Amino acid sequence: MVISGPSGVGKGTIVKMLLARRPQASLSISCTTRPPREGEKDGESYFFVSEEKFKAMIADGGFLEYSQHFENFYGTPRQFVENRLNTGDVILEIEVDGALNVKKVMPQAVLVMIAPPDRQTLYARLKGRGTEDEDVISRRMDRMEYELGKSPLYDYVIINDDLETAVDKVESILEKEI
Ligand code: ADP
Ligand code: 5GP
Repeated sequence: MVISGPSGVGKGTIVKMLLARRPQASLSISCTTRPPREGEKDGESYFFVSEEKFKAMIADGGFLEYSQHFENFYGTPRQFVENRLNTGDVILEIEVDGALNVKKVMPQAVLVMIAPPDRQTLYARLKGRGTEDEDVISRRMDRMEYELGKSPLYDYVIINDDLETAVDKVESILEKEI
């Protein structure tokens, strides 16, 4: 299952709650060249790597997909996902370009878009999270239009208004589809 949606929409929160309910599922840990945010540990939120190392992994065919946005590279380690698929469901939390690339190489992937109730709510959540400055928030809001514009290509679109309801919906898709 591939989960996408604009920054701040609640993907991380939903995935965390979903994993607590379904211990047999696992989250794919991506590689990124962006610096860790406060509290993020290597190998937990991401594998934090240098651009040099990331490019070497691209050359080795080490990514199922990768993309560059917000000036940083993000990629899904191929081996990690293939190994985990042998033992249970795998959840990828990645942006739209990467998600659509996963669907190309793995047509059995189920794409789920998490959408905000409205723009003001998204802005408030991003600001409330307090991990980005105003300039970064404004660029991420611009990117929102692009991401939500890809919704028709997704298998499901879920509005994250009430959190529990959104998690219930994602869980039921997981039960039905995978
Ligand atoms: P993302 O992973 O999509 O960037 P996060 O999961 O970090 O987003 O959520 C951004 C902020 O919004 C967090 O502070 C989170 O607690 C809050 N949040 C998530 N879902 C909801 C919701 N349904 N209602 C209110 N706040 C929410
Ligand atoms: P953040 O910097 O806020 O952690 O993530 C920024 C964006 O990168 C989010 O939309 C997130 O879903 C996306 N992302 C995280 N990992 C990957 C990945 O492996 N591949 C792609 N294509 N996008 C990713």
